[in-house]
Amino acid sequence: MRASRMNLVTLREDPSEAEIASHRLLLRGGFLHKSGAGLYLYAPLLKRVIDKASRIVADEISRTGGLEVTMPIMQEQALWEKSGRWTTYQASRTMLTVRDRGGQVFGLAPTAEEVVTDYAATVVKSYKQLPVTFFQQHTKFRDEIRPRFGLMRVKEFIMMDAYSFHDADTSLDQTYDAMRVAYLRTFKRLGLEAFAVEADSGAIGGNGSHEFMVAAAVGEDAILFCSGCDYAANVERATRRAVAVTWEGAATATSVETPKVGTIEDVTKFLTAAGHTWVTAGRCLKCVLYVAKITGGEVTVAAFVSGDRQVNEVKLTNAINRQVHDRGPVLELRPMHPEEVVAATGAKPGFAGPTTGLKANYLIVDQSVPRNLPMVVGANRTDHHIVGYRLDRDAAGLTLLSDDLVTVETGDGCPRCTATLAQKRGIEVGHIFKLGTKYSAAMKAEFTGQDQKLHPFIMGCYGIGTSRVVAAAVEQHNDQDGIRWPMAIAPYHCVIVPVGKPGDTAVEGAAQSIYDALLAAGIEAVLDDRDQKPGVKFKDWDLIGIPLRIVCGRGVAEGLVELKPRDGAAENIPLASAAEVVIGRVRAALSASQAAADAVR
Ligand code: ATP
Ligand code: MG
Repeated sequence: MRASRMNLVTLREDPSEAEIASHRLLLRGGFLHKSGAGLYLYAPLLKRVIDKASRIVADEISRTGGLEVTMPIMQEQALWEKSGRWTTYQASRTMLTVRDRGGQVFGLAPTAEEVVTDYAATVVKSYKQLPVTFFQQHTKFRDEIRPRFGLMRVKEFIMMDAYSFHDADTSLDQTYDAMRVAYLRTFKRLGLEAFAVEADSGAIGGNGSHEFMVAAAVGEDAILFCSGCDYAANVERATRRAVAVTWEGAATATSVETPKVGTIEDVTKFLTAAGHTWVTAGRCLKCVLYVAKITGGEVTVAAFVSGDRQVNEVKLTNAINRQVHDRGPVLELRPMHPEEVVAATGAKPGFAGPTTGLKANYLIVDQSVPRNLPMVVGANRTDHHIVGYRLDRDAAGLTLLSDDLVTVETGDGCPRCTATLAQKRGIEVGHIFKLGTKYSAAMKAEFTGQDQKLHPFIMGCYGIGTSRVVAAAVEQHNDQDGIRWPMAIAPYHCVIVPVGKPGDTAVEGAAQSIYDALLAAGIEAVLDDRDQKPGVKFKDWDLIGIPLRIVCGRGVAEGLVELKPRDGAAENIPLASAAEVVIGRVRAALSASQAAADAVR
């Protein structure tokens, strides 16, 4: 490609709306054009990168035996009603919908379990056809509340989504593991350092799931890692080792006036100053009140955790779903507004506690809160706490459910070994789920088994955010000058920059000959024939991130050109073998990422 024909438009200044490296550099390099909030046009350079990433992803999923299809983006409401997800997706407002002229409503694919399950039910009739995996690489839509960070969180993006169908759990386990390997291979080939962590199954449902994360300070996910074993889990899912605690405190429960001290910190300070020296934040019981929307109404929930811990709302949602199963799944969970707290407790916010004065449908206590030790709890009376309150003795009239509610933090014990956990941030690039029969049972998608009876398919589903992966690659590969694309997804492999006086035929001829030789060998090369100063050209290519640069300048007279890898030092190499050297470097880089993929187990 000749640079003069590429419509290159780069920006010297950082765009003010871009908070993270990938967003900033993709905009500055002319890869992205913002078309609307959370909507981007992929410019020619980005299109090449996305296509390469897509091909690698599709290649690896095909390698597991996956069959590629294309499903419609518009999905009928009726289909989503069959699985029961229309209501949940409408409630969480994640699905964008359109209406046709006849008034029929469609959801714009946020994912495609319903469509593929309906397809499988039609084309897969017998256990002899199982297992089978269908996948696609297609546009997905999600009505994100806060689209941000460029390609990371958008309303419209490209996802590889795969769905597997099985006649037995063991078969699902095999495909799930094959997918895990395929994902790790994919990320190696893309030049990404990614790892699998245990994850929450969320709105997709199911009973086992892993996310694939790229470590990055700008990541929106918090992950807990064990220093002693390979345990790693998303904070929405992470658990911790139980620790036995005991302490001495007030022997009886007494209501104490605690004027204007509603926060745990203030209560602790106030009470210790007043002589209750055994009181610490961890010995106070924090009560957070929520309203959970469920089908046909709302329920109120009081969540109790130690005063030094935070309620994890994903865990709380799962706990409500588990404990209050006859009411259907939680569609939306939100903390009570102050006036609702007043109505539920009869007190100002800050004084809620597990006494009969509390009006909530369900009271759930974190499983680590000791029931037989004295604590400080809110008295459901403004400016009052109860000191020395024991749940087993003093809350006897209440139904207290028990579950895991707290956010695991750095320093907590690993649930698998004796070491401790630490938190890091990550970007979720992929997700795999064991769905079981959630969709097939609801949609009556069945096959005839060996026993000649009908059975619902056992299913798995798998997603990779192809466009987000590209942004993650930029996060992992950049420096102060710009992007440093891994060879496998670079828009071009090599750029040739002639730097001579106009009409310097030796220099131009050298550049042209290398360019021709590279193209002939299938190397994706750019010849920078633009009428620009060399410094401007170098800055552009550093920003755009082409892995190899050949500069043809004064050295040509002595038969030398300069080779400058984007991530290494410049060296002079013979003009005569320059193309050969570049071809070798490109092939070596591609085989290295392939070898890294082949080493995955
Ligand atoms: P997140 O937690 O980041 O919102 P998710 O868990 O909702 O993502 P999945 O349903 O697991 O996403 O979708 C599979 C993959 O699609 C994700 O791992 C991610 O790479 C990508 N993805 C999801 N939402 C977006 C988005 N709004 N923009 C770009 N990529 C996305
Ligand atoms: Mg996910």
